[in-house]
Amino acid sequence: MMINKYKHIIWDWNGTLLDDTEFCVGIMNGMLTRRMMSNISKSYYKRIFTFPIRKYYEKIGLPIDDEQFVLLSKEFIYEYELNRLTCGIFEGAEEVLQTIIELGLSQSILSAYSQNTLEEIVAHFGLTKYFSKIKGLDNIYASSKIELGKQLMSELGLLKGEALLIGDTLHDKEAAEAIGADCVLIANGHQDKTVLASSGIEVFDSITHFKNQYFKD
Ligand SMILES: [Mg+2]
Repeated sequence: MMINKYKHIIWDWNGTLLDDTEFCVGIMNGMLTRRMMSNISKSYYKRIFTFPIRKYYEKIGLPIDDEQFVLLSKEFIYEYELNRLTCGIFEGAEEVLQTIIELGLSQSILSAYSQNTLEEIVAHFGLTKYFSKIKGLDNIYASSKIELGKQLMSELGLLKGEALLIGDTLHDKEAAEAIGADCVLIANGHQDKTVLASSGIEVFDSITHFKNQYFKD
């Protein structure tokens, strides 16, 4: 089994375990409507979504000077927090988390989401028990997971190549490279398969496809 190459699995949360892409498109369309701007489709969103978030707002045509960016971020987060529990976990995700534990590997979450809210929502879905560490950012302007990831690797005592990071964006791949973890991407979240494939690393359509590949004998 390819998964046995690793000691530890690092999961991204939004768009990888939590199915929140359509939810985010809906929030953005509300923000655009309030500004008399055209709404966007999910497939368009997946082609333009990127980190830092400021770049993504710019591509949509929203004003991104410091003041406006703070206001937009607050507006988005407010709406997100209000209805976040209407999102669900991806089909097959918990089964994969359970199987990984049974294989004797440990797991963590590395997220650009804020620490408190991250812990709370993971607990809401009853998933806390699968993770030895849950690591989020301590501000709402989600910029980079790289520093956070380096802390995580050192706290867990992980060396280069011992961890596999599973994410849904090119930022996850960038973070994985920077912290010395291998990476696979799942195209069921915030970025389009074509965008992800441009990175040259392995891309799966769903967690189940990943499982079928990495857990076979
Ligand atoms: Mg993500």
